[in-house]
Amino acid sequence: MNRSATHSESGDRPIHLYGLRPDELRAWLEEKGEPGYRAAQLFDWMYKKRVTGVEAMTNLPKSLRALLRERTRLTTMEELTRQVSKKDGTTKFLFRLFDGSTVETVLMRHSYGNSVCVSTQVGCHMGCAFCASTLGGLVRNLTAGEMMEQVLACQRLLDAEGGRVSSVVLMGSGEPLENYEATVRFMDLVSAEEGLRIGQRHITVSTSGLVPAIRRLAKERRQITLAVSLHAPNDEVRGRLMPINRAYPIAKLLEACREYWEETGRRVTFEYALIGGVNDRLDQARELAGRLRGLPCHVNLIPVNYVPERRFERTPREQVQAFRKELERRGISCTVRREMGADIAAACGQLRAGHRMAEA
Ligand code: SAH
Repeated sequence: MNRSATHSESGDRPIHLYGLRPDELRAWLEEKGEPGYRAAQLFDWMYKKRVTGVEAMTNLPKSLRALLRERTRLTTMEELTRQVSKKDGTTKFLFRLFDGSTVETVLMRHSYGNSVCVSTQVGCHMGCAFCASTLGGLVRNLTAGEMMEQVLACQRLLDAEGGRVSSVVLMGSGEPLENYEATVRFMDLVSAEEGLRIGQRHITVSTSGLVPAIRRLAKERRQITLAVSLHAPNDEVRGRLMPINRAYPIAKLLEACREYWEETGRRVTFEYALIGGVNDRLDQARELAGRLRGLPCHVNLIPVNYVPERRFERTPREQVQAFRKELERRGISCTVRREMGADIAAACGQLRAGHRMAEA
């Protein structure tokens, strides 16, 4: 397999077709002397028929197929493992990328549709105390095309059952807003008419709280849902869990969230992983409610996933409900996230961490 797939053509590096917007593909084809309508044909093969190689694109002239084989790449990832939950059908993929790196992708089946949890970086360097993805540090950013391939792999699986991916959450490994350009490009591609047509309202981007990037995204006024990993009611607790809080404390973060709401009209989701004895007391629920008062938002409570290297205790079920009620009593809209795929490599980043350990 070629070792340098990218969406930009530099030197003799092949272009990754899944990273290109329709206008870019058209321009490239025209530059090669091909009629512009070939772009529509190619997109149809890529996103509607979802073939995995140019050989299958039988309505393209042989000469064009030869050019595509020589100058471009369609699929660049190889499936290493696939685990299916016996409980709820959640499917976890581990992919090997062109350079040998590995990333995880999760397909979740809900009553309201199928959602894909996409990774945006190989590893992560945010250093959150409870997270497995950050254990080996950051290896590299993923390209938009690599994010797209994760969704397509799930869609191909669903094709066999006549299903479709209806939503995308950027909550896999990595900090999407640190890989801003590729992430935004991916979100535009996945919602494109010519692509999978997953509407922006069905895309959620999750951030550990990069304030300048939240502001930048707000200004672009997309209809994307912003999820912010808050996990604490004050800087003292958050600072212990998330190093990023030193750069962007809660007050600044909430200001940026308000700006996101003002610019886009979309209420912000706050993720809050409940950790026994750390952030799950009722007085902390009250403090949290006080801070969020007046900000159109929704809180997603997540009983922390156990990561062997981290040893955080899960909040007991009754305490989770008590915490939820305390928030609701104070007018904060709130849900407890249903656990998916608990029987297959539970926590975020665990599949890849386990694979790296097995390889070491
Ligand atoms: N870097 C981004 C997106 C990836 S993490 C972010 O921080 O939001 C996706 C979500 O999973 C985040 O809310 C993160 O805090 C949460 N998470 C990570 N490890 C977890 C664990 N062990 N248990 C529960 N949630 C976890």
